[in-house]
Amino acid sequence: MKFTSYWLDTAPAGAAERSTTVVEGRTDVAVIGGGLTGVVAALHLARRGAKVHLFEQHTVGFGASGRNGGMATTGMSIGIRAAVAKMGLDKAEPLYRSYGQAIDLIEKLVADEGIDCDFARPGKLNLATKPAHYEGFAKTAELLTTRLGVEADLVPKAELHREIGSDVYHGALIDSKSASLHVGKYIRGLGEAAERAGVTIHENAPVLTLAKRGSGHELTTPRGRIQADQVLVATGAYTRRPFRWHQVRIAPVGSFIIATEPLGTSRCDELLPTRRVASDSKNILNYFRITPDNRLLFGGRARFAMSNPESDEKSGQILRDAMVRILPQLSDARIDYCWGGLVDMSIDRMVHAGERDGVYYSMGYAGHGVQMATYMGRQMAEYMAGVPEANIWRDFPFRRIPGHFGPPWFLPVAGAYYKLKDRVS
Ligand SMILES: Cc1cc2nc3c(=O)[nH]c(=O)nc-3n(C[C@H](O)[C@H](O)[C@H](O)COP(=O)(O)OP(=O)(O)OC[C@H]3O[C@@H](n4cnc5c(N)ncnc54)[C@H](O)[C@@H]3O)c2cc1C
Repeated sequence: MKFTSYWLDTAPAGAAERSTTVVEGRTDVAVIGGGLTGVVAALHLARRGAKVHLFEQHTVGFGASGRNGGMATTGMSIGIRAAVAKMGLDKAEPLYRSYGQAIDLIEKLVADEGIDCDFARPGKLNLATKPAHYEGFAKTAELLTTRLGVEADLVPKAELHREIGSDVYHGALIDSKSASLHVGKYIRGLGEAAERAGVTIHENAPVLTLAKRGSGHELTTPRGRIQADQVLVATGAYTRRPFRWHQVRIAPVGSFIIATEPLGTSRCDELLPTRRVASDSKNILNYFRITPDNRLLFGGRARFAMSNPESDEKSGQILRDAMVRILPQLSDARIDYCWGGLVDMSIDRMVHAGERDGVYYSMGYAGHGVQMATYMGRQMAEYMAGVPEANIWRDFPFRRIPGHFGPPWFLPVAGAYYKLKDRVS
C-alpha cells in the first residue's frame, strides 16, 4: 500500500526548475499557496496582464487540492435549506448558484487549456443513512424544484439498486449537474496553464515573512525576497505563521481516503452502475466514487485528527471497515492507496474572502473547494482588480475560532460533538 495521494501519484509531475528559481525584484502580485485558489487566481491575474509570482512551500497541489475526493458538487457546505433559514432565499440563492457556476468554470478551464483530467458530469448521489434523513431530502428537493427551479430527483429505498450495490441506505437525492475529475491532473495542468499565461511559479519556496513596504509588501523566502504591490493569501487549511490572523480563523480538519486496487468494469457496474459520485448524510460523512481506472475511492473524516503518516494509517483501517460495511462485495479488495489531507473549515462553514491590511485572502471551502476554490481563484483576480461585487462572500464577517491559538487541540472535542449529533439526529 502506498501512503500517498493516488491523484498526485498518477499525474505528470511539474517542472523541476520551479525549485531553483531566484526570488528577487518586484512584481505586481504575489500569490501564496499553490492549490486551486492560488493557481487559478494567478492564471486569471496573468490573463489580465499582471506580472505574477506564485509561491508554494512544497509543490503545486501538495495541499488539499491534490488530495481530495475529486468531486465537484453543487450545493453549499451548510446545505441549501440551512442557508435559506439562516439568511433568506434572496441572499442564499446567488451563493447556491455560484457552486453550479463553479462547475461550469472547471469545465471551461479544462476545455480552454486542454487539460486532460477525465472531467465528467455523472451527477451526485446524496445517500440517506436514516429514514428521517430521506424525509429531509424530500424537503430539500421541494425547495430546489419549486423555489429555485433546480432539477432534484428522489430515489426511494426500493429503487436504490439502480444507483448503488448497497442495502444500507434509506433512499437518495440525485443532483445531476455534479462532476468528477482527476484532481492531480487538473491542478498540475492548471499550474502549466498559469505558466503559459506568464506566471512564475516558485516551488519549495515557503513565504516566511510578509511586511508592509510603502504602498506594497515585502515577502521573504529561503531563496530571496521580493516586493509585491498586491498579495493574495491562498493557503487554505495549511495556513500557518506568518498568516496568524487567518490561521486562527480556519480549523484544519483531517480527512482521509483509501483507494482499492483496479476492480474492472463489471465489478464497478455492481457498485455504482451510473458512476455518480456519492456521499452520505451524516455529519461525519463518508464519500466515494469510481476512479478513471476503476478503483473505488472511499473517504471520510475517519478520525478528528491532523493528517500525518500514523494518523493516515489508522484512518485507513477505519475507512476500510466502513467501506466493507457499505459495500460488502469489497471485503477481499486490496487497498493500494491511503492518504490524508486537511480540510479548511471556518467557524460558520462558510467561505471567507476579502482584504485585510492590504492583503487579500480566500479560504474556508469546507469540503467543497474543488469547485469553489476554482471559482474564487477567478473571482479574486477580478476583486483584486477593483471589482467588489466579484467577491460574493464579502459581507460575511470572518470570525476567529474561540480557543484557536495555532495547533488545533479542539479537533477531538469537535469530533465527539459531531459523533453525538450523528447518533441523535
Ligand atoms: C481528503 C480531502 C478530501 C476532499 N474532498 C473534496 C471533494 O471531493 N470535493 C470538494 O469540492 N472538496 C474536497 N475537499 C476540499 C478541497 O480539496 C479544498 O477545499 C481545496 O482544495 C482548497 O484549495 P486551496 O487552494 O484553497 O488550498 P490548498 O489546496 O490546501 O492549497 C494551499 C497551499 O498553500 C501552501 N502553503 C501554505 N503555507 C504556505 C506558505 N507560507 N508559503 C507558501 N505556500 C504555503 C500549502 O503547501 C498548500 O499547497 C477535500 C479535502 C481533503 C483534504
